[in-house]
Amino acid sequence: MSDTVAALHGHTVPMTRVALLGATGSIGRQALEVIEANPELELVAATSGRTPIDGLAPLTQVGGDPAALLERAAPDIVLNATLGFAGLPATIWALEHGVTLALANKESLVAAGELALAARERGGGLLIPVDSEHSALFQCAQLGEPESLVLTASGGPFRGRTREELTDVTAEQALAHPTWSMGAKITIDSATLANKGLEVIEAHFLFTIPYERIEVVVHPTSIVHGVVRFRDGASIAHLGYPDMRVPISYALTYPERAETPIPALDLTAGPLEFFQPDVVTFRMLALAREAGERGGTYPCAYNAANEVAVAAFLEGRIGFLDIASLVESVLGEIDGAPARDLDELRDADRKARELVWVS
Ligand code: NAD
Ligand code: MG
Repeated sequence: MSDTVAALHGHTVPMTRVALLGATGSIGRQALEVIEANPELELVAATSGRTPIDGLAPLTQVGGDPAALLERAAPDIVLNATLGFAGLPATIWALEHGVTLALANKESLVAAGELALAARERGGGLLIPVDSEHSALFQCAQLGEPESLVLTASGGPFRGRTREELTDVTAEQALAHPTWSMGAKITIDSATLANKGLEVIEAHFLFTIPYERIEVVVHPTSIVHGVVRFRDGASIAHLGYPDMRVPISYALTYPERAETPIPALDLTAGPLEFFQPDVVTFRMLALAREAGERGGTYPCAYNAANEVAVAAFLEGRIGFLDIASLVESVLGEIDGAPARDLDELRDADRKARELVWVS
């Protein structure tokens, strides 16, 4: 009997218990909308970094390690929408426990890479990306084994500018993203293309595919979210208006699809254009590939140094181009030895953060 039929006959529809981490953020608030609109989703726990969230869910927590909260909440799905490396404990908890992980927090997967995949192996649960490009690729990859992947990038507010033109840009200018409305950190990452760099590494781990088979193209209108190429010459693309409620809903209802308020795409509305990224001006993309190829704790250090540099840029303490320079010098300082456990990973993260100001 289908769920709908069961409901008509007075049986209860099985609810999916969702724990939402980072509930007060950009993704968190959109996830609350999705959960609110879908009677089959039940919010059982919610966390935030600092903002009080009393009453939002039966179990709530502000700051700290969410493991004990998650044990008590016993969710079916953990939606990790925390910001930055601070999302690591939730990612590892879900993977270790075989609880479906709907992952927006790309930084934890980039930093923990192999350790996260080993935890998933032990836990045996699902890892479903919420990042729009990876959700798109994940959906296309339902149709066969990917030969190569294409990630699209809007190019951010500074697309087409030269390095010289970026010397004096302000945080306010960098925060004016052309297509997506997001939290401050990821918006700066989109302006430097570090976001796409993190996403290349994220795709490498999610789809266990070598870096040379992950391509990035600039696509200013953010309508095509990702393309999977197959060995027979077919390429399958995922299209839609840029709205995170679509990948959030997909991750929370997989393998089903639920209704959302997002309209169907009008293909006649505008051109679909694609360009090569300018990796000389937007050096963070090239540095991410280098870090990814080197492996070990290079991706962790790339992420850590970027988090520190972006925070400094947002506070007006460094210039826009300094973000890439600082990250590059940190990558030049470390040995990048692989982390054998989470303690070693946290050490690598902390060392990279410290090196931003000494190197
Ligand atoms: P945001 O800054 O708007 O929100 C972050 C959330 O995390 C807030 O609820 C905050 O309270 C919480 N948080 C911060 N530090 C924390 C800590 N130490 N412990 C627990 N919670 C903490 O960020 P966002 O834009 O919603 O992004 C969240 C994650 O989703 C990031 O990893 C980002 O890369 C990813 N992502 C976001 C978008 C988007 O459209 N915003 C798209 C794709 C991926
Ligand atoms: Mg993305």
